[in-house]
Amino acid sequence: MSLFKNIIYAHEHTTIDLSGIKQDMDCCLDNKTDIIEEFGKLAQLGVSRIIDQTNNGMGRNPNYVREVSEAVGITIAQSTGYYKEPFLPEECYRMDEKQLSSKMVSELTNGIEQSGIRAEFIGEIGTGKDCIQPVEEKIFCAASRAHADTGASICTHTTLGTLGIEQIAIFQKYGVDLQKVVLSHIDLSGDLDYMLRLLDKGVNIAFDTVGKNNYQPDEKRVEWLLELCKRGFSPQIVLSVDITRKSHYKKNGGIGYAYLLESFVPALLDAGCSRQNVENLLVHTPARIYNNPERDVL
Ligand SMILES: [Zn+2]
Repeated sequence: MSLFKNIIYAHEHTTIDLSGIKQDMDCCLDNKTDIIEEFGKLAQLGVSRIIDQTNNGMGRNPNYVREVSEAVGITIAQSTGYYKEPFLPEECYRMDEKQLSSKMVSELTNGIEQSGIRAEFIGEIGTGKDCIQPVEEKIFCAASRAHADTGASICTHTTLGTLGIEQIAIFQKYGVDLQKVVLSHIDLSGDLDYMLRLLDKGVNIAFDTVGKNNYQPDEKRVEWLLELCKRGFSPQIVLSVDITRKSHYKKNGGIGYAYLLESFVPALLDAGCSRQNVENLLVHTPARIYNNPERDVL
């Protein structure tokens, strides 16, 4: 039984491999049978689209993702871009801003490597905790140029929700349309006033660490969402669970992807969030940001 149709998970990783630098094999998602089981459950729950934030250097595998997509009957948008230090490939240091931008544009228009599969957006480009490293700033500038050339949406990674204002400042310098920008992990900031300051600038924010109660409890996420929705911001907020570890899968004892729809959304509705607002968070807002009818997938 699904409460809504055409649900979009705004920040996930069909594949990811950060295991080398993290020295932890848990940080590698590479089991196709397991992900088909997890995403298959989502299809039953009304999910029609997943925004895959795994980019160049994070273990991106376009053909694998396409196979998973076809097996479960959910479209999966793939991304171009680079993550953050120390997970950046060597070319980020070698190439200048314009070259990096050209590479992103090529992946958005011609396809990723030899796959013939186009990236549909730029993501998740990130910053670390206390300051933006020069190479990270170069990637943000390159992404802004690629956005200007293609109209592609941009999704950023913030570390524990920080430096959102600074990220926006770079985009503003390049005239990026902030309605097409999503700042990720803002629920981890734990700061409602900060969330309001970001939203007032016109940018979108993601509550995409739902279920990660060791960082912030879901009761707080519900509380903040109620307040933000009450103030009319559901057209600027998207949801997801950002599963990045094998141990997050249901069969391995984790919450699994379905947790968002089976546990969190019912709690949000019970707390008094209107059906229309929840539908905005799950369906209409991510569709406005990430569905590009004029940019058909190959
Ligand atoms: Zn992520």
